[in-house]
Amino acid sequence: MYLLEVAQRAAHIGYSETNIVTGIWQSSPMLDEIYGIDRFYIRHFENWVNLIHPDDREQLLNILAEVKKDGTPFRAQYRVIRYKDGQCCWVEAWGSIEYENSRPVRFICTVMDITERKLTEIELDQYRRSLEAQVAERTKALDQSNKRLAAALEVAEAASMAKSDFLANMSHEIRTPMNAIIGMTGLLEQEAMDPGQREKLKRITAAGDHLLALIEDILDLSRIEASKVVLYPSIFRPRDLVAQCINLLSDTINDKGLRVECHIEPGVPGVLLGDVARIKQILINFGSNAVKFTERGFIQFSVFEISNNGESALVRFEVEDTGIGIDREVIDRIFLAFEQADSSTTRRYGGTGLGLAICKRLAKLMGGEVGAESTLGLGSKFWFTARLELANELDASEGGESMLQPVADLSTVDFNGARILLVEDNSTNQEITKDVLEKAGFCVDLSDSGRDALERIKLGSYELILMDTQMPGMDGIECARQIRKMPGCFEVPIIALTANAYEHNRLNCLAAGMNDFIAKPVKVSILNEKIKHWLAQSNQKPPIPKPQPVLPSPQDNQPVDHEIERFLDKLEELLETKDSAAFRIIRSDSALLASALGSRENEIRRLIESFEYVKALEALRSLRASTRQDT
Ligand code: ADP
Repeated sequence: MYLLEVAQRAAHIGYSETNIVTGIWQSSPMLDEIYGIDRFYIRHFENWVNLIHPDDREQLLNILAEVKKDGTPFRAQYRVIRYKDGQCCWVEAWGSIEYENSRPVRFICTVMDITERKLTEIELDQYRRSLEAQVAERTKALDQSNKRLAAALEVAEAASMAKSDFLANMSHEIRTPMNAIIGMTGLLEQEAMDPGQREKLKRITAAGDHLLALIEDILDLSRIEASKVVLYPSIFRPRDLVAQCINLLSDTINDKGLRVECHIEPGVPGVLLGDVARIKQILINFGSNAVKFTERGFIQFSVFEISNNGESALVRFEVEDTGIGIDREVIDRIFLAFEQADSSTTRRYGGTGLGLAICKRLAKLMGGEVGAESTLGLGSKFWFTARLELANELDASEGGESMLQPVADLSTVDFNGARILLVEDNSTNQEITKDVLEKAGFCVDLSDSGRDALERIKLGSYELILMDTQMPGMDGIECARQIRKMPGCFEVPIIALTANAYEHNRLNCLAAGMNDFIAKPVKVSILNEKIKHWLAQSNQKPPIPKPQPVLPSPQDNQPVDHEIERFLDKLEELLETKDSAAFRIIRSDSALLASALGSRENEIRRLIESFEYVKALEALRSLRASTRQDT
């Protein structure tokens, strides 16, 4: 008994025994200490209740009532107000009822002083709460600063957008008068007899070309910086891509008598997926610099695979020359905007000093880097890397090869007298372009507005339409859309002329049903080349079935069967050759399209509109096969 008491004292555990019938209780010395009572304290039930903290009484009495009812032992934590000094302490109690002859007689209770533990818990809880409050406060502050950041970002994005729009507008404003200057100079050059004058005119043209190149580069750089440049991946063969770049540079390479070499490392994948135009842009920039700064020796283009993870490859393209080389001190600076290794090179070799800065940003956009190694007087090697997805030969043959399509041989085709409608509101541009076209042997009609163009097209037939995109009233995009809806007009080539050089403007033109795009100021050679290309394209094609205005038949208002068959034959043929005219034919006559494709109209239209020609062809064939079975 003595040992038990020692143990209880050490553990701060007391003990009580209550007579259920009389409510009188007895307590162990340790319990007296916990409760702060002495042996004179009258131990009846009410006096026990008086020791409990008023806030905990009700809960404790409820527990006791439950225990009395079903006899299950209980365990509870509550506060006690010590009798002796009124101090509050926490206890944990375990209690159970003892029975005699199945009647409850005693209530036995063990009480442990847990004040210290409880205080620690309370303190911890307070810490936790204050910590939570601090976290909440910080989160709120963070939220607020995030909101401020987001607002600032929005302002910055708006500013960058405004800058980008400003540049686009500025470029438009500069291009329009430049168009007049370059165009007029071109005409004068053709007419001028005096060699001295011709020389001066040549210089004006060269200065104009330089200014234009500068505008293009500034625009490109600012668009990349405003994150407005999106990559348009397509499938290509690295070998062919390099060959095309060399081809483009071949005139100047030959003029200088340089040797050109091409090395494609055997490990480089045969076909890859990447933005061909941007890869070419970098290679041409490196290549034309190499040619520009090399007087004798060779230019070597090389392609290596650096790594390959089965899905994509990191590919390195290099252009090496035996030219003047670059000073070690300046080599790191040449990738910065407006930096040229030697300021005198601007005068001697020309250039904007922006090309390499653009290359650096483009390579980064493609997940790669750029760099250069050089020895003054011996030559330079410029390289860039790009992460490119792997593709397979099948994909390449399924339409990724648009860049490799053979160009029609234009020299054998005679376009003399071809009728062209020029839609242009600016009188200077009208004069220049008409003059250029007539000199090339075309017959030109003029329209100075979209509305007028539509009227003229109704009256006469044109073999090609040149369409200014920005005109007051109906603009060129809307006008092209309207033309495509006119009977018999879904095939006539429409070429956009625009001072707006953004990629999305180009896509807008194509989406409106136009075939091509020429940026202003229009260069005579490009204009003639494109016109001839598109005239040749439409000459090569068999006559296109005009979607006849649908004649109401006596029975119903549906197009007659042979029209539908002819339409389906044509559509199938266009899809087979992946000809984008399929895109236009489905927009030309909605009634014919609906009758021809029936319930599959939407599906096939959607496939064609997303240029999924192979799938569209499959769907069309399965539709035709099932129709044939039905009949
Ligand atoms: P630019 O239009 O002036 O050529 P780039 O950004 O393409 O602008 O080139 C910046 C400068 O880097 C050039 O002006 C020239 O000084 C130097 N540079 C570039 N490529 C070569 C090269 N292959 N050999 C020597 N110098 C080069």
